[in-house]
Amino acid sequence: MKEARFKNILQTACTVCFAFARFALSLRVLENKGMDGQYPSVLLEKAVSEFAKLPGIGRKTAMRLVLYLLRQDTSMVEAFAGALVTLKREVKYCKVCHNISDTETCRICANPARDASVVCVVENIRDVMAVEATQQFHGLYHVLGGVISPMDGIGPGDLQIESLVQRVEAGGISEVILALSTTMEGDTTNFYIYRKLEKTGVKLSVIARGISVGDELEYADEVTLGRSIVNRTPFNGVL
Ligand SMILES: [Zn+2]
Repeated sequence: MKEARFKNILQTACTVCFAFARFALSLRVLENKGMDGQYPSVLLEKAVSEFAKLPGIGRKTAMRLVLYLLRQDTSMVEAFAGALVTLKREVKYCKVCHNISDTETCRICANPARDASVVCVVENIRDVMAVEATQQFHGLYHVLGGVISPMDGIGPGDLQIESLVQRVEAGGISEVILALSTTMEGDTTNFYIYRKLEKTGVKLSVIARGISVGDELEYADEVTLGRSIVNRTPFNGVL
């Protein structure tokens, strides 16, 4: 009797599972059909294709964003598109550090309170914002516009390295801090800049590499932990 009841429950569960799987599969098929280009409107498909060109945006997310914009007022969509077109047309790059700016010289370079004798070399504007957010750096920046990456066809000539050398040679800079990504491309770029600047006599430093704040030692990889040991800093009671 008990066995029969159990068998019955099992059978019902199996039927429900099977029905659910079929439903999920049919949804997937429908979705894929939609993604294969069967859009109800060419205008919609074009807009989705444009959004999908953005980094990190797949066609599904692109569709969601386009449908969101479609639901908004025309004035909002015009303001959105207008801001992008104006940005592209009118944005300037600081003539000193190549940071994005509204004026010829950016706010950081034009600030007399900043220490112009220390220059922090970074890859892009996001890195400037990241270092600024720490409130630990009061010098100026130099935005390279990327790192040397032969795989992506980016050579030293594509970056703002020559203008960095000219900046240092012009005088007034005592230290250049290299704050690039700790990747092979970042290290290659660090070495290239080092070779270019070593004869100028300027002090060259790289940002410290090691254990992150809050990390436990046993989970750190050997390279990171090894570097932390080699590049240890004196302990003065405060970290
Ligand atoms: Zn600047």
